[in-house]
Amino acid sequence: MDEQLELAPVGYVVIDQDLRILEINKMMMKIAGIENAPIYMHELLTISSQIYFQTYFIPTIITHGAVSEMVLKLKNPSGAVPVLMNTKKSNGFFECAFMQMPMRSEYENELLNAKREAERISQATKEANQKLILLLNKVEFKQAELNVLNSRLQELTVTDVLTNLKNRRYLEEFLPGMMDKGTLTLLLIDIDFFKKINDAFGHHAGDIVLQEFARLLDSLIGDAGFVARIGGEEFVVVLPEISQSETEEIAEEIRKSIEVKDWSYGQMTVSIGIAKSAKGMQLSNLLKIADVALYNSKNEGRNRVTVGSSS
Ligand code: GH3
Ligand code: MG
Ligand code: MG
Repeated sequence: MDEQLELAPVGYVVIDQDLRILEINKMMMKIAGIENAPIYMHELLTISSQIYFQTYFIPTIITHGAVSEMVLKLKNPSGAVPVLMNTKKSNGFFECAFMQMPMRSEYENELLNAKREAERISQATKEANQKLILLLNKVEFKQAELNVLNSRLQELTVTDVLTNLKNRRYLEEFLPGMMDKGTLTLLLIDIDFFKKINDAFGHHAGDIVLQEFARLLDSLIGDAGFVARIGGEEFVVVLPEISQSETEEIAEEIRKSIEVKDWSYGQMTVSIGIAKSAKGMQLSNLLKIADVALYNSKNEGRNRVTVGSSS
């Protein structure tokens, strides 16, 4: 028998049809605790295993050509040794491999432990993935919240706090772009003698009037354009390019509506300056034209509309 088979970690025995032992390796002798090879197979087995072996071995090997995992007990001077036998028919002989049961159960335990460890890792991975999904959802939610806050913040920076109208920054940020796209009309509106309201009724009353004023102006303009508060009691109405007469009509309507309204702190009038943008004109120029026109309205007695000119 070759050296490798002699030292293999399993017992190895070749028997013939009469169950006579033809070959036996050193490991088998060691498992059986013997020094000399016996002649017959049954000499290796305990009485009960001999009966079991004789009853099942021959019919099975004849029918199937192999015997799988037959549990037997080897006679050993220091006590019976449970083994698992696998047999294969080869060239008319039977090759039998014996594995000690404790060895097998060790493998089984190892397998079982490896399986448990794999299950534990799979469970941990699953839990970690679930946590990750939760975290990702949280991040997504926070991001959405942040986006809302950012756009709200953006809105706030271009909104006048007192009146909720657009502010001067909005004009500076967006009007140049609008002027590039096409010409437009701008009305610069300043409340006449507003200081008197503050002086007579206090700053808070002045604030209330400014809010009332903003509401009226905003409702008068509606979707025709937009309104911004660019200073204390100075407002701007931006309209798309319209005819001179239409512009003057709108300005006159504003002036009149303010004059006739029943304000919380007494009668009030406005002076208005109109400016029309031209292609390539700067915002500062447009405001300057409106400002000069407004100044003329004031100069000529207030409560009136003046159309500005670029010359
Ligand atoms: P004019 O007809 O020449 O425009 O006279 P006016 O009194 O309206 O103009 P002036 O510029 O002399 O005064 C504007 C006043 O507006 C002065 C300031 O106290 C007041 N004002 C500016 N901003 C606010 C504000 O936010 N709230 C209140 N209540 N008053 C303001
Ligand atoms: Mg003013
Ligand atoms: Mg004023």
